[in-house]
Amino acid sequence: MPELVRYARHGDVAVITIDHPPVNALSFRVSEELLAQMRAADADLEVGAVVLIGAGRTFIAGADIREFGRPDGSRVAAALGAALEVVENCSKPVIAAIHGSALGGGLETAMAAHYRLMAATAQIGQPEVKIGLIPGAGGTQRLPRLAGIAKAVEMCAFGGSIGAKDAQAAGIADRVIDSKNEADLLEAALAFAREIAGAPIPRTRERVQKLVGADPEVFKAARDQARKKMRGQPAPLAAIDAVEAASKLPFSEGLRYEAELFERCRVSNESKSLIHAFFGERAVSKIPDVPASTQARSIERVAIVGAGTMGGGIAMVFADAGFPVVIRETTAEALDRGMNTIRANYARALKSGRLTEDLMMQRVGRIQGQLSYDGFENADLAIEAVFESIEVKKQVFRDLDRVAKRGCILATNTSSLDVDEIAAATSRPESVVGVHFFSPANLMRLVEIVRGKATGVDVLATAMTLAKKLGKISVLSANRFGFIGNRIMMPYAREAQLLLEEGASIEDVNSALVDFGMAMGPLAMYDQVGLDVALHVEIEARRFEKQPGLLERRRPLVMERLVAMGRLGQKSGAGFAKFDENRKPVPDPEVAELIEICAKEAGIQRRNISKHEIVDRCILAMVNEGARVLEEGVALRAVDIDVVYMTGYGFPSWRGGPMFYADTLGLKHVLARIREFEKQHGSALWAPAPLLERYAAEGRGFNPPDE
Ligand code: NAD
Repeated sequence: MPELVRYARHGDVAVITIDHPPVNALSFRVSEELLAQMRAADADLEVGAVVLIGAGRTFIAGADIREFGRPDGSRVAAALGAALEVVENCSKPVIAAIHGSALGGGLETAMAAHYRLMAATAQIGQPEVKIGLIPGAGGTQRLPRLAGIAKAVEMCAFGGSIGAKDAQAAGIADRVIDSKNEADLLEAALAFAREIAGAPIPRTRERVQKLVGADPEVFKAARDQARKKMRGQPAPLAAIDAVEAASKLPFSEGLRYEAELFERCRVSNESKSLIHAFFGERAVSKIPDVPASTQARSIERVAIVGAGTMGGGIAMVFADAGFPVVIRETTAEALDRGMNTIRANYARALKSGRLTEDLMMQRVGRIQGQLSYDGFENADLAIEAVFESIEVKKQVFRDLDRVAKRGCILATNTSSLDVDEIAAATSRPESVVGVHFFSPANLMRLVEIVRGKATGVDVLATAMTLAKKLGKISVLSANRFGFIGNRIMMPYAREAQLLLEEGASIEDVNSALVDFGMAMGPLAMYDQVGLDVALHVEIEARRFEKQPGLLERRRPLVMERLVAMGRLGQKSGAGFAKFDENRKPVPDPEVAELIEICAKEAGIQRRNISKHEIVDRCILAMVNEGARVLEEGVALRAVDIDVVYMTGYGFPSWRGGPMFYADTLGLKHVLARIREFEKQHGSALWAPAPLLERYAAEGRGFNPPDE
């Protein structure tokens, strides 16, 4: 087995190199080898100082996340803790030489060393909270000793990284080195070792000056912020507790407290969910019959049809990534409106400092608006984003088939129409694919890639690779109504509306789901999307599926009435809620009255409904439909559904997406609850999905245990 931690001598300096490609992640074995090599350096009579450095492009970018997830994962943090104790106790000065990044356990390692040199471009941070953990090898105890309480709270609770200059100003880095590569940095570290020879060794755990007089306000403000910004997550609060302990307890007791909190976080559902989300975003790019070796088509020029909400947003996505884009509209008026919106969006980005003037000009300059198909013959990819009407789309695809060169991929951004029907309007269905961006396209990370029955594997490979280039997460969906996301959204939103008729208020429903962790309540979401749009998708879905059964189910009445009244949501000033001049929703007694009328018409006796029931009805409706989506092969894996929901629909990633959430509840429990709802509301709405019944009987979850 190759060594992961190497030991070499440069004169009287021992150089210990972590060499665990690609990012020198700290595994159990790396920690054990680090400990052994540190002992060797300490015992080597000819060694006067030790340099710790990373091989390749970085110092240590973190810990091996998979190891943490295993049942014996606690030994990983313990092994690192033990190694770092040896680093800190070393009788010779230890210098950490940091390039690339020192994150998580990497920064903890650097802080156990006695000095830290940082390449000017290096980054450090304690991002553990992003996967529901806290630093577990002394980070919460050593960071406040170097950087002070406030800085440590900020870094440990919110997980952001800082650069070398900030690290030096904060007292974490002793020196910033203008090095070009690892060899330069090593040179500087060796010179530094000679410089500090004979000086007393500064051990981080002994540095207490910055701990005294900690302002209790700092902890309170951070807790308030964590509760707001990282709602529902225990790890940021645990991180603050641990740093606070550093200000009150001796080092060894602080370490013990940190270990206790770390372990509590490690076994929590929140951490498991966040880790599932982290790996899920990588897992969804794998399509079993599209091997990584599939030759993707080359995409250099892009053409878009329609400069409305989506066409304009998609044009920005491509312009941001450096692609020249032509965009076609039907009227000068629509084109002006579209191009003005694009310019206004960029101007806003400039104003908020997210973009420089130069970059803005470059990006705007890449987008050319026009009323013709000129230039479409040069495009490698054409994306249609016109009205959601099958006839309009078929006409556009007939046009594209005529003007686009052979090999050009023809993509539709439809949210609900049949991609096969659209493809059949062309002479090249193998080149047709759905690319379902979400609104606003330039900000939302999700793209559903919809596979038609004829879509070529090279086209799929191209779409998936391209999405990655655009900074998007792409998930494959089969061509079934609503694809993955909107299909599951329908029963979720249906339950939200039925609950209104049964007795809950609009605010009850929205706030129960926001408290559960959703970015927005379902009815607030419909107000934003537009009630007419939501209704239209439902109607199209029924047409697409050609399933009369769907129509016969009990239908909520309120939304149709609101649309008939011209209450279309935010855009018309009123939907489920009324909107004031700042677009703030306010409850509307008129709607409350309408709900009562609808309930009466449906013959429903209104009653009190608990938060718990609201959440179960909405979320488990989503889960049950998710099981069908999985069984029908619309989604390849449960994790694909989870990723769609976390990246496109505001499902909290600390709950891991609907399918993972169901797994944490246990499918037996989920099934029992769904059977209760079936008894109350009938099988048309609540018949349990056969896959759910099977998995519950087998005692397994939707996600395989060892993904
Ligand atoms: P929109 O009404 O804002 O824009 C459609 C634009 O297409 C209009 O500007 C119209 O003038 C133009 N157009 C119509 N026919 C055309 C033609 N033959 N050639 C060129 N331009 C033409 O609609 P939108 O919200 O951008 O939706 C576009 C598509 O994206 C729809 O299929 C919709 O379902 C889908 N979609 C919308 C959203 C959303 O939230 N808005 C999200 C995902 C997908």
